[in-house]
Amino acid sequence: MAYDFDLFVIGGGSGGVRCARIAAGLGAKVAVAEARFWGGTCVNVGCVPKKLMVMAAEYGMATADSHGFGWQTAPGAHDWQGFITRKNAEISRLNGIYTRLLTNAGVTVFDAYASFTGPHTLDVGGQTITAERIVIATGGKPAVPEFPGAEHCIVSDDAFFLPERPRRVALLGGGYIAVEFAGIFAGLGAEVDLVMRQALPLRGFDEELREGLAEALTANGVRLHGGSAVTRVTEAGGVKTIHLANGTSIETDLVFAALGRTPATQGLGLEAAGVATTAGGAVAVGPHGATNIAHIFAIGDVTDRLNLTPVAIAEGHSLAEMLYGQGPRHWHIDRTATAVFSIPPIATVGPTEAEAAARATIDVYVSRFTPMRHTISGRSRKTLMKLLVDHETQKVIAAHMLGEDAPEIIQGLSIAINAGATKQDFDRTVGIHPTAGEEFVTMRSLTRQVGPQG
Ligand code: NDP
Repeated sequence: MAYDFDLFVIGGGSGGVRCARIAAGLGAKVAVAEARFWGGTCVNVGCVPKKLMVMAAEYGMATADSHGFGWQTAPGAHDWQGFITRKNAEISRLNGIYTRLLTNAGVTVFDAYASFTGPHTLDVGGQTITAERIVIATGGKPAVPEFPGAEHCIVSDDAFFLPERPRRVALLGGGYIAVEFAGIFAGLGAEVDLVMRQALPLRGFDEELREGLAEALTANGVRLHGGSAVTRVTEAGGVKTIHLANGTSIETDLVFAALGRTPATQGLGLEAAGVATTAGGAVAVGPHGATNIAHIFAIGDVTDRLNLTPVAIAEGHSLAEMLYGQGPRHWHIDRTATAVFSIPPIATVGPTEAEAAARATIDVYVSRFTPMRHTISGRSRKTLMKLLVDHETQKVIAAHMLGEDAPEIIQGLSIAINAGATKQDFDRTVGIHPTAGEEFVTMRSLTRQVGPQG
């Protein structure tokens, strides 16, 4: 049977766009459908505008810090609307770049919603389109809270378009989004409460980093409410009240629920194609994004595994190479670096100390110091760095950092760790002085040794 396209990608986010472009470059006849915004979550309501907002917050803090360096400027009132307008213009520019990348690669683009009507057939904005292979790359969306009063809460999609900077904000959750926006709003001058069910933020990250981040958030003026369960949210006269299970409550102006994300599979007509999903509603996939239907694949957040933009991109690229090129590309999922753009940020590659210690004897090197800038800025802030070394092989298996420029530093270190560098390789590397990063090559004294024996 002749199909309209060799490959149809549903979803024009980071993963879908990369998959489509690479497949087209390898000679396939490709189309992509995107109903909402080109570039997906990352470009529109995720990584990119979030980082611009973190930068906005950091400028305010840097203005205060500059006083220690002799500047006498006063931190002025922040022009929220002016900033959001410029941020939106930049995102529109990126939307255009994404569609141009596709059309320049010879990909047909549909500004339309696509859903399955059969295994090889899609309804694309009312048009019937057939494809030999189909890739589901529809991403995820913010989870909606289940407690009474959820309608009084915003989610991350809303946070990028607020008409004004709230005076008080309460963030629900202790994950990536909650801690990133706690930094943003606190840096922009809001009163911030962070309400989380764990004692510390960022469950799953190294315990020492979590403790360091809790201290840093507190130093930035964020009020932490660890071990708190929200029972309901009420609203009266514009004031929102968060009721907690321990009987206390928190008053605020904006309640921002950051309680995870759910895969965007509803309305896709997966049943018409017979595509299986997991209990959580994600598209169930095996190696290389294979679903239970041989010619249908899924990549990125819709598969709900490691929900990170670069992972979706790597999956999309690999899939296109597998289908039309030299075979799939390989990388170590457990050595994928990640960063949280809290203020200061966290970045990490490899297992946590507890995970590593459960498997083998580990040499742990820890350094904690006041970064040079804050020796005279007057700000109370510490940098924390950690290296985990397999005692037997002396390979560096993990690097963790909380502190300014952590994502930039860990990005470089992740190459060394993925390449299998040993502690001796780190030790014989000459540092760059004065930097924070040089600390990673000058950690001479063992902090402790941990292992399965405790
Ligand atoms: P996360 O999964 O990171 O965190 C969700 C938070 O909500 C956790 O603290 C979780 O607590 C809490 N939570 C979930 N359900 C409930 C509940 N019913 N009651 C109370 N607390 C609850 O989700 P985010 O929304 O922060 O971010 C979504 C994903 O997006 C991230 O996991 C990440 O993959 C991606 N992302 C990546 C970024 C980056 O790379 N910098 C930035 C932003 C997002 P508990 O820990 O107890 O489960």
